[in-house]
Amino acid sequence: MNLARRPELSDASTETLSGLYWYAADGEPVPPELDVAPIIIHDIRTVEAHAVLLLPVRPDTTGPGPGQIRALHGQDIYIIAVSQLPVSLARQQQLYAEGADDVHVLEGCVAMFACLARAKRHFERSHGAETKRRDLKAQLDILQDALDHLPTPIYLKNINGWYQACNTAFANLLSRPREEVIGHRLEELAPAETAEKHETSDARLRELGGLMCYETDVCLHDDDQRYVMLHKALVSDEHGKPCGIAGVMIDITERKRLEARLMNAAERDPLTDAYNRRKFFELADQAISDAVAHGDTLCVAAIDVDNFKSINDEFGHAEGDITLCSIVDILRTHETEGVIVARAGGEEFFVFFFGAAAARAEEILQAMRTEISQYCQIRTAVGLAGTISVGMAAFDPAAENIDRALRRADAALYHAKHHGRNRLSRAR
Ligand code: GH3
Ligand code: MG
Ligand code: MG
Repeated sequence: MNLARRPELSDASTETLSGLYWYAADGEPVPPELDVAPIIIHDIRTVEAHAVLLLPVRPDTTGPGPGQIRALHGQDIYIIAVSQLPVSLARQQQLYAEGADDVHVLEGCVAMFACLARAKRHFERSHGAETKRRDLKAQLDILQDALDHLPTPIYLKNINGWYQACNTAFANLLSRPREEVIGHRLEELAPAETAEKHETSDARLRELGGLMCYETDVCLHDDDQRYVMLHKALVSDEHGKPCGIAGVMIDITERKRLEARLMNAAERDPLTDAYNRRKFFELADQAISDAVAHGDTLCVAAIDVDNFKSINDEFGHAEGDITLCSIVDILRTHETEGVIVARAGGEEFFVFFFGAAAARAEEILQAMRTEISQYCQIRTAVGLAGTISVGMAAFDPAAENIDRALRRADAALYHAKHHGRNRLSRAR
């Protein structure tokens, strides 16, 4: 193998052309017509990228062709097939087909200069394309880096649901490296139920276009349920044809938890966690509407803790609080379908019965009273305390409102108090 290099070509454009080589397999010398001052390079592996190889070829197909040279050095070289004899058009076409970039025939001395000028232009063009590609990649890297700095998961899918791009926050949400997200669909990355839910909304977005915004939970893993506000936009190409869906997930888990806490605070008594009066009447009103529609009878009870003041007085307010919580715990073990327990205020409670539970109200109240007497009763200076007295009133919601029924229950409660406490009295 004989490689001759003419370095001044690379000097002319160091960035785009790295040298001109005479590339003869059998040591054939550089033809004088080429006017090249050769430098022999013995190791063909030293041929640099962006080199121009002058490859001697024959009019017939003997000897190494451009295909072999191309296979050895790849696409990064420029091959000029040089024939010292005229070659047929078919042979020229064959040389091009094998990978020659140009064909130069010395017979008749076609200007080598034109060949080299074409080679140089070729490398300048590919160098320009490479520079553009590098610039574009640098810009994409900056964009990716910027998105990766944001804590908000962001993604781009193509129109068929394959992820095209995403930031680190989105990959982290899926607990996968980005490379395992790109080129995949959500159904491959998340539980079937989650994937189906998002695919349904994607289908709707593809149908309606524009922007979609909704709250959803992302239960991608059992141990971490998050809530997100998902903004999705249908992305179109330059012809206005939909080509993808871009999504941003804003984590609203903390807001959701705060909402739940606020909701709880608005509905429940902070000490005992029983419903408060407001929620009691709200729930009762719904049940009353249904009962009126169905002609059902309802029942309401007023409960007051017996001699509770003496518990506070003898054991302290904190002990009184604990007793109240214990009493509510027992009341709420009976808070099944059709039973609503609420703290009416102080050491007084309401219980509302509807549906099938209304007919069992007395039985349930007696069970509550018995259990409380068993577990919460305490002896104080004024006698037994911590038990409950109960007044209950059944009522027809079409004929009597809940306030009147509660007044009757209250009257029954005082009857129970005056007849020894720790007992239940039915209103007349
Ligand atoms: P009776 O059997 O007649 O109902 O006697 P009682 O002592 O239970 O009735 P009274 O109305 O005299 O006392 C109720 C007491 O409940 C007075 C009040 O200080 C106490 N109380 C009200 N709310 C709370 C609370 O949240 N925690 C505590 N520890 N005590 C409370
Ligand atoms: Mg009271
Ligand atoms: Mg009391």
